[in-house]
Parts: sequence; structure tokens; C-alpha cells
Amino acid sequence: MIATDVDAFNRLKGLSRMIGNTPLLGIECSFRGKRRVIYAKSEQLNLTGSIKDRMALHILKTAYAEGKIRPGDTIAEATSGNTGISFAAIGRALGHPVRIFMPDWMSHERQDLIRSFGAEIVLVSAEQGGFLGSIRMSEEFAASRSDVFLPRQFSNPANTEAHETTTGPEIWEQLESAGLCPDAFVAGVGTGGTVMGVGRYFRARNPDVKVHPVEVAESPTLSAGHKVGKHRIQGICDEFIPTIVDLTLLDPIIAVFDGDSILMAQKLATSLGLAVGISSGCNFLAALKVQEELGPAAVVATVFTDDNKKYLSTDLTKVEPVRPDYLAPEVTLTGISALDRVCRFCASGRE
Ligand code: PMP
Repeated sequence: MIATDVDAFNRLKGLSRMIGNTPLLGIECSFRGKRRVIYAKSEQLNLTGSIKDRMALHILKTAYAEGKIRPGDTIAEATSGNTGISFAAIGRALGHPVRIFMPDWMSHERQDLIRSFGAEIVLVSAEQGGFLGSIRMSEEFAASRSDVFLPRQFSNPANTEAHETTTGPEIWEQLESAGLCPDAFVAGVGTGGTVMGVGRYFRARNPDVKVHPVEVAESPTLSAGHKVGKHRIQGICDEFIPTIVDLTLLDPIIAVFDGDSILMAQKLATSLGLAVGISSGCNFLAALKVQEELGPAAVVATVFTDDNKKYLSTDLTKVEPVRPDYLAPEVTLTGISALDRVCRFCASGRE
């Protein structure tokens, strides 16, 4: 348990040394007869193994700075997984009880990881409302007590800000250090924090940069405006369009099949030793699609959101049938490079 806000600020400062400033990978491949490079931020190297650490850290920092959370308050959040893991780890590190509301169909690894940090999980069935039910139940829980902090990742501007102030500038400067300038950024939309935040930073630097949100072809929440169908890419395309997403500020939505994403994630692991999750395979294919439109030399960046360890019991580790409209079978991964991390974001340069 932490005693004061000062203790919390010190612990937040320590945690921020373990989150962000990740490598930017140059993934070399050939696709449709042309040599390509796609740039992907290696977010599995964050404290708990996903990009969501950035958002959880920034939301808690902001809440402490604004006096919206007090030492000992319970952090309660509805999440499909990675956010729960991030708030469980960072919340517990700050001495907070953590209660996570999540749909009961999320992978067992995610549930066990959240519990391993000493957080409590409330599983919500499809009959109880699934994802939307999880959000409703977290709001009801907060309304029933005076000592609950709700991060509200789907509507909290600090989510977008986390990526506008860290992920976006890091990618920009890493590319710049290699003499490159991004032509486009793509990212699968869960809360939309990544695509909106990186997009906002990139557009401030160059209004002509393309910024594409990505959805799952089998379950196109963004295009439909609500949940349709089912899919296997945990973390994106939930049941609604989050408040922080403004599609009018973005370029056209890119759709990627879930099976194609699984095949691509498998290929990244077997060919390059990059053990990434399914949404990373999806982001890579979306980046390739955008590069097809802009030209093979276009500098397209994306994120590898998390690693494969949370998906070992899912179809990611099974043989995935190939379909004729898939792109992953046409991709040959040939090499990998890592761009320098940016000193401005190194531990000594921060704060
Ligand atoms: N991929 C995975 C595995 C995730 O957990 C998330 C977060 N829900 C995303 C992608 C999407 O990130 P964002 O919430 O910033 O849109």
C-alpha cells in the first residue's frame, strides 16, 4: 500500500522507465514480386508485454496529477485483456486493489495473467451483455462506492494522449534518425487510442500523412457502426465504435481477415523469430495493403501490439487453412533490422 501521492508519483516515475521507447523494426519481405520494408514498433517489449502499458501508465499519471485517484482507491475497468493486464500490474505496483470486468470468452492466459498480479476478475457472459455488459457492470460498481477509480479507456482522452506523446514521436524520430519520413500509419482499432494518438502526432508534423484504422473483415465494427459477426483477433473490433475514435479524421478503413492475420503472425515467428500476437499479424498485412496503394517504396509504419504468449491456447498455435483471398501466403519474409531507440525517450532524458 502506498501512503501518499508523493509515493505514487515516485513509483510512477520508476514504472515509466520500463514502458515505451521500444525498438522500431524494419521488416524486410518480398510481396507480389517486389522487395518491401514495413516498419513495426516492437510493443511486446513493454513492462507487461503489450502496448496497453503506455495507456495505463499515462491514464494513472494524469489521474494522480488531477487528483482524480487517491492512494488505496480500487481501479475498476472493463477490458478484453491487455488493458486488464496493464492496470493489474501497474495498479498493484502502486498499491491499488484492481478489479477487472471481462467477457468470459477471452483466452485463459489473459485471465490467469490478470489474476497473477493479484487483481480480481469478474467474468461476464454473453447473456450478461458481453463487452457492453462488462462496461455497464464496472460503472455500476463505481456508482456503488466512493473509492473506485474508473480509467474508462474507451472515452478517456489520456488514452489517445499516451500515443500522441510517446508512440507517435518515438516512431517519427526513429524513422528520422534513419533518414526516413512516414507516408502512412495503420493500426487495428480496439479503443482506437493508438491510431488516433499516433495519427494526431503524425498529422501535426505532416498533414498529408495517411492514417488508416484497421478492422477485421469477418466482423467490421467500424464500417457497420456496431458489432456484426464473430472474429478471432482479440483486442480489436469490439462491440461498438469508442468515443475517442473520430473516423472523419482518418483515411479509409482497411479490412483484414482473421485467418490471414493468424497465418501472418505465425510466419513472423517461424521466419524471423518474432513471436507476436494475432493483431500484429493483422497490422502487418494492413500496412502491406496500404503500401500496395502508395507504392512499394512508401514508408508505412504500424505496431506489433503484443507477443504470442497470451494466445498459446488459441488458433494461433494450430494449422490455419489457407484461403485464395489471403495475402500472408504471398509474403516471403527475408530479414529484419532495428532502428536506433531515441535518446530523448531514454530513461535519463525523461521527465
Ligand atoms: N491489439 C491488441 C492485442 C490489443 O489488446 C489492443 C487493445 N485493445 C489493440 C490491438 C488495439 O489498440 P487500441 O486500443 O489502442 O486501439
